[in-house]
Amino acid sequence: MTSEEKIKQLRAQLREHNYNYYVLDNPTVSDYEFDVLLKELQDLETAHPEFDDPNSPTRRVGGEVTKNFETVAHEFRMYSLDNSYSKEDLEDWEKRIKKMVDGEVHYTCELKYDGASMSLTYENGTLVRAVTRGDGFQGDNVTPNVKTIKSVPLKLQGDFPQKFEIRGEIVLPFEGFTQMNAERVANGEEPYRNPRNTASGSLKLQDSAEVAKRPLECLLYSLKGSKLPIQTQYESLEKAREWGFKVPEVAKLAQNIDEVLEFVNYWDVHRHELPYETDGVVIKVNNLQQQEELGYTAKAPRWAMAYKFKAEQVATTLEQITYQVGRTGAITPVANLTPVELAGTIVKRASLHNADQIEKLDIREGDTVFVEKGGEIIPKIIGVDFTRRDPNSQPTQYRTQCPECSTPLVRKEGEAQHYCPNTEGCPPQIIGRIQHYISRKAMDIEGLGGETVALLVTNGLINNYADLYLLKAEQLIPLERMAQKSAENLVAGVEASKHIPFERVLFALGIRYVGETVAKKLAKHFKSIDALMAASFEALIAVDEIGDRIAESVIEFFTSEENIATIQRLKEYGVQLQLSEETLANQTDTLAGNTFVVSGVFHKVSRTELKKLIEDNGGKVSSSISGKTNYVVAGDNMGPSKRTKAEGLGIAIISEDDFLGML
Ligand code: AMP
Ligand code: ZN
Repeated sequence: MTSEEKIKQLRAQLREHNYNYYVLDNPTVSDYEFDVLLKELQDLETAHPEFDDPNSPTRRVGGEVTKNFETVAHEFRMYSLDNSYSKEDLEDWEKRIKKMVDGEVHYTCELKYDGASMSLTYENGTLVRAVTRGDGFQGDNVTPNVKTIKSVPLKLQGDFPQKFEIRGEIVLPFEGFTQMNAERVANGEEPYRNPRNTASGSLKLQDSAEVAKRPLECLLYSLKGSKLPIQTQYESLEKAREWGFKVPEVAKLAQNIDEVLEFVNYWDVHRHELPYETDGVVIKVNNLQQQEELGYTAKAPRWAMAYKFKAEQVATTLEQITYQVGRTGAITPVANLTPVELAGTIVKRASLHNADQIEKLDIREGDTVFVEKGGEIIPKIIGVDFTRRDPNSQPTQYRTQCPECSTPLVRKEGEAQHYCPNTEGCPPQIIGRIQHYISRKAMDIEGLGGETVALLVTNGLINNYADLYLLKAEQLIPLERMAQKSAENLVAGVEASKHIPFERVLFALGIRYVGETVAKKLAKHFKSIDALMAASFEALIAVDEIGDRIAESVIEFFTSEENIATIQRLKEYGVQLQLSEETLANQTDTLAGNTFVVSGVFHKVSRTELKKLIEDNGGKVSSSISGKTNYVVAGDNMGPSKRTKAEGLGIAIISEDDFLGML
């Protein structure tokens, strides 16, 4: 046998052993035998660098060092999941689904693994890229680190598609976590808080050899790609398993919601026997064609639902209530607790939401309180143990003055939150607004972070976001931790923000209740800041999905002289305060006044493009057929009951070509 053949043979053997051990949990050789084979391969590879393979099992030990992880756009967005907590929630979900798709709906039930989400791309059966979820649109390329995770196959077996993405969760099983902590404590280091954060932290370690030492696992749950030879979610799990991925066997096909609940109830109890953390069940419409029909909301697929297990609770002492001021001046009361362990983390603080909440639960300093951690990062107080209350304690008096600037707090009719009205002079508000302005989803100013903003404000260099555009590198260099290079980057980042499109600028301005989606709607409708500023209350609420609360807030924002002056300055500096020519050119009113329902599969444009075309041309997209529908754009495989319904209501059913012809 030649060296090359020997190398190939050893790689194949080691791959097989890795698979048996890490994916099937069923090793067929001893660790010693494995190590001998690995050593033999390593020696041969060192002697014959010409037969190098980046996916050789020897690469599992890591050694590649990444200083900055490259940002990669996801080809398919990584969505979040909607949550449900009860049988009723699931039944409501099923009702919504049945309105939108035809035929019987079956569900795949899987566990919701609590770790770090990951997207793996395979081409010709080899792993080419591993990317973190990031913000869902783009994540970090952590391939060298993920390659060290033994249950991630570097080469696939069987009839895998030429190119696809597979999604999963990187978890750190309890046993490995406890072991790592024991070592840390022995070395005099702080133990890690919980397996989930440790798993996601591990992915971002610079030295992949360090990652290789951590007993991480990758559990897979979904396939993405175009033209995959697969009809159902359940089948995709089986296929992935065949190709060599670790797909937990617990997944079950349920014929109806009752069967889903059986699965949920079983695992609510038995999950504690699993080797890793889970925080619920994920229920997915099994048929992929139906999934496609259901599509996505802005955040999550309509075809999937997380069912959260009931949260864990502990009792501890509320030592003190403090108050935080947000960027809009909203006051949040915070409970400072005697530290206590809850679901694997140490909890010291919890949000108390607002004055009503404190009053309703009659929460007082010194009380023993019950703390619960659900899916949220911030735990919440759900009640007081009155049997242990100090008989001399007094009801909580909510703070009347701003903790930062002492201005008397106000509370508007019908609102739960107190506000500090000193918008222009209250430091956390000034800083918070600028931090919001520069944030990733707003102006995304590179080279400038939240802490630097605070530093710039406290040093008197800026007082509002318009001031950013006057900053000069020379002014910045004297600041703490600010080198020439970073000062220049900051100034360049600010300059670059002048190209950010109007809808994001509008979001960045920080008008209360004007989030990303609302900003888009307003930008599209009014097209320029001048038109928006001139809009009356009636004109505002006439815009689809804009209600009284938003309209009032927009008007209030533009009544302030300060705000008007700031916007005037932004305009002078060249910030985009109207839609670009290009955007305007692609928008028409051709379809104005018409509501469309899109159903089936299309050829010339994707469903998403089709919907965008409708909206860009002034039409409205709706998800279900009703008396208000004007057209149904029907692709291949449009469901028969949809067709009957449309025909019954006398709604025009048009083809993709008919539609494109309308434009
Ligand atoms: P959330 O971030 O709470 O909205 O939940 C969505 C996340 O759940 C996804 O991004 C995945 O990382 C994670 N997840 C865990 N297990 C599953 C599963 N079986 N199917 C889908 N997503 C899952
Ligand atoms: Zn204040």
